[in-house]
Order: sequence, then C-alpha cells, then structure tokens
Amino acid sequence: MTAASAPPVATAKTERLHFIDGAYTAGNSGKMYDVFNPVDGSIICRVHEAGPAEVDAAVKAARAALSGEWGRLSVADRCDLLYQVADEINRRFDAFLDAEIADTGKPAAMARMIDIPRGAANFKVFADTIKTIPTESFHLDTPDGEGAVNYAVRVPKGVIGVIAPWNLPLLLMTWKVGPALTCGNTVVVKPSEQTPSTTTLLGEVMNAVGMPKGVFNVVHGFGPDSAGEYLTRHPGVDAITFTGETKTGEEIMKAAAKGVRDVSFELGGKNPSIIFADCDFEKAVEGTLRSVFSNCGQQCLSTERVYVERPIFDAFVSRMKAGAEAMKIGAPYEKGTELGPLISQAHREKVLSYYRRAVEDGASVVTGGGVPKMPGDLDNGYWIEPTIWTGLADDSAVMRDEIFGPCCHIRPFDTEEEVVALANDTPYGLACAIWTADASRVHRMVRRVEAGIIWVNSWFLRDLRTPFGGSKQSGIGREGGVHSLEFYTELRNVCVKI
Ligand code: NAD
Repeated sequence: MTAASAPPVATAKTERLHFIDGAYTAGNSGKMYDVFNPVDGSIICRVHEAGPAEVDAAVKAARAALSGEWGRLSVADRCDLLYQVADEINRRFDAFLDAEIADTGKPAAMARMIDIPRGAANFKVFADTIKTIPTESFHLDTPDGEGAVNYAVRVPKGVIGVIAPWNLPLLLMTWKVGPALTCGNTVVVKPSEQTPSTTTLLGEVMNAVGMPKGVFNVVHGFGPDSAGEYLTRHPGVDAITFTGETKTGEEIMKAAAKGVRDVSFELGGKNPSIIFADCDFEKAVEGTLRSVFSNCGQQCLSTERVYVERPIFDAFVSRMKAGAEAMKIGAPYEKGTELGPLISQAHREKVLSYYRRAVEDGASVVTGGGVPKMPGDLDNGYWIEPTIWTGLADDSAVMRDEIFGPCCHIRPFDTEEEVVALANDTPYGLACAIWTADASRVHRMVRRVEAGIIWVNSWFLRDLRTPFGGSKQSGIGREGGVHSLEFYTELRNVCVKI
C-alpha cells in the first residue's frame, strides 16, 4: 500500500479538538493551525489552538474530578478501568495505527510492533505494579514504654501537567498518563503540536470505558505563548512531567519554580555506542544500525557517536556503510520500508545543517549526506539520506549537539580508559550501548560511563519495571515501575501513639 492509498485517519475527521471534562470542544480562542503529513507534505488536519481560557477550563475540570467519583474509587477499581483503557486501545488498534502513521510518517511495521502496543501496555504495567507495592511501617519505642506506630500512605499528587514530544507520540504520552492515573491523579495533556491525533483519539477511549469526566483532558497548541506555557504556568497544576528537548526543560523548570512544583524530565541525548574488538561482530553491526537509524534517528535513545576499537574499525565502518545503503526508504505502508521521513520541513533543515557542518568541519562522508529523490508526490515529503561520517574532531558541533536524525559519526579508540573519557565528554547522559564479550570489563565500565541507561550487547531492550531516565542534562528523575509511582504520589507519614 502506498501513502496515497493508506487508510484514512480515523481521528475526528479533519479537525483536532480539545478534550475537556469528557467532551470534545473547539474552544473559543479562534486560532487554528495545520498539521502536515511528513510523507508528502500534504495537510492532514487543522488543529484548534488553546488559549489561556481553554487551559484554565481543562485544569479546573481536572481539579474537580479529583474530589468526585474518581477520587473515591478503590485502587482495584481504578486499575480495572485502566485495564479497560488498554483493551479499548487494542480494540481500536488500526485507528490508532493510522493516526500515528499519518502524523509521523513512520514505517507501519514499527508503529504496529512498538508504538501502539506499548501505548496500550502503559495502562496495564503500572496498574499491575501499584498492587504489589508494600508500604513501610516502623514501631517506635517511646519513653513511656507504650510506643508508637508509624506508617506511610500514598496519596495522589493532584493535577498533573503532561507535555509530550512528537517522536513516539502515543507511547511517550501514555508512559506518563498511565502511571499518573494509576496513582489516582488527574491529567491535562499537551501533545506536540506536530502530532496531535492519537492523544485526541484517547479521549474517545476514555469515554468508551466510562472514565469519569475531567480525569483525562487534552489541550492543543505550541509551547511558548501557547498551550504549553499556559499549562506549565497554571497555578492549578501540582506537578509537571515533560519529555522533550533539554532547552525546553529549562524553560519548564522556570515555570515550575513558581509555586515550587515538582518536575519529572526526560530530555535529550548524544548517546555513544562502544564496540570492542572481542564483541559478536554481526550482532554489534545489526544492533548499531538499529540504534542509529530506527525511527529515522528521531529517538532520544538513538546512537549518534560510535566508538570502535581500532583492530575492527575499518571492517565495522564498511559493514555500517553497506547496512545503511541497503535500508529501504519508503512510505509507511510500503512493504519492507525501514526508513521513513523526518517529522517536518523545519526539522529536515536542522538535520541538513549538520550534514553541511560535518563536511565543513572536515568529515569523510562514508555514505549519504543529502536528500533522496522520491517518486511522485512523495518528493514533497521530508526525506533524508541515512548518513555516516568518520574523521571529525571531538569538539565539532556535529559531535556535541543532539542532531535527532539518521546519522552517526564513527571514531576509532585504543583503550578502555580512552573510550570512557570520550563517551563521557558530553553534557548529556541518557543512554550508552557497550558491545563486548568481556563480562569483567562490563562491570568495570557501567560504574564509569555517565548514562542513566546502559545496554550491554543489546539496544532498546526495555522492561517497563526498570528505572528509565537520564543523568546530567538528559533529565531529572526516573520513570518506569515503582519509580513512576514515586513521582506521581505523595508519601504521607502517620504516627499513631499506642
Ligand atoms: P520540544 O522540547 O521541542 O517539544 C516537546 C513538547 O514541549 C512539545 O509538546 C512542545 O509544544 C512543548 N513545549 C515547547 N516549548 C515549551 C514551553 N516553553 N513550555 C511548555 N511546553 C513547551 O521537543 P520535541 O522536538 O517535540 O522532541 C524531541 C526532543 O525530545 C529531543 O531532544 C529528544 O531527545 C527528546 N526526547 C527525550 C526522551 C527521553 O525519554 N529522554 C524521549 C523522547 C524524546
């Protein structure tokens, strides 16, 4: 199936509405903007942009819901509702799939395997987790000999502001909404302006399962001077969870400072992959190709810096070149498509500016570096060639900035000491992949490599119970399993004199 014959977007026709207090609304701001299909540049839909009044209505609905029927549900009943949300997403799988693909242009095979199933699973995994969390209690000996018992109860934090990015829209949004609701909070979600569709669709799911009104709200718009800023500055929001660029995180942190609101941040990365000569060569090549090029390099966890031990450097570069050149660039529903377009014209301009900069800085272009010629209308899409460089200095902007495109630089190294220093030479600290057969080396290195997530002989293998997040400028806090539940609850201590 080509882009032209792909199923229509099943979301609210050609407009995207806010979802406030259980109902879809255009609001009264009078402002709308277009969303473009990355595959061919055509307009997918028009989106109503929220002004301060729509954001205020959403926050008020969320606050009112806290003390309504939702606030009185037992944990078990709340979890049952969330299991139903997961089931309902799966029942509407194709509608979510088509909507996600239309907004992002990503290969259908990827969205079918990762984005939509994980979007549903995020409502199950935290419901499972919360049922198993023990609470602590302490027996205190007091001077009168009778003592006291201390125990802690978990209560919801309140209204959570959720700000999401465009690269995995449903997956990353539900990664926050799932645990927030599991813990009994209510949410106001601001999806990325570029990918509003699956978040809008989720409102239908909430109504279908009988979620009380006001628990899940959606407002559309941009960041500064728009819905994002209005939401993060709103005094009725108790905590903010954000995934996006580090620069944006700094702005949101300033907004959260007013009222001393808590934040959870999943930010950018400039992730290294380290390949030792003793690795399983074929697996390291395959894993590194995936880590560089999947989702067209638009993943916070993507590898952009590859360090290869010198004895296998030439062979590794040549296999990466062959792998990149064999990748099928194509429309989402075309059979065998591995590489879709970038998200937007503006993002392609940004990535191409790094392609030019690499050449100016003296890189050898191993492969790629430009824009492919695509057939028919597809040529209006935001396609780009998978690109590999060697020979750049470590201080080139290409080596330091997060590019967020299908590209990497490969550099040789000689010693473990040297490669640890190279890997850590970045303000970011999100993820690192180490490929080696030496278990002792692994245990030495994981303490020294500055990253929140380290994969050994693998990449993107995720167990949703584990802590996920970045160190340095890649984030604040950890999400996943009990770590999410920590953020989305207040722990209240109760001391009872016996
Ligand atoms: P972005 O920061 O430009 O936008 C993210 C969201 O923030 C959007 O909804 C946007 O409208 C909103 N926003 C922008 N300015 C705002 C402001 N001043 N106040 C409130 N909201 C504002 O990020 P993006 O381009 O959508 O996503 C790509 C970035 O996300 C990359 O840096 C990537 O590494 C990062 N990311 C990180 C993770 C992670 O888990 N660490 C996961 C995915 C993406």
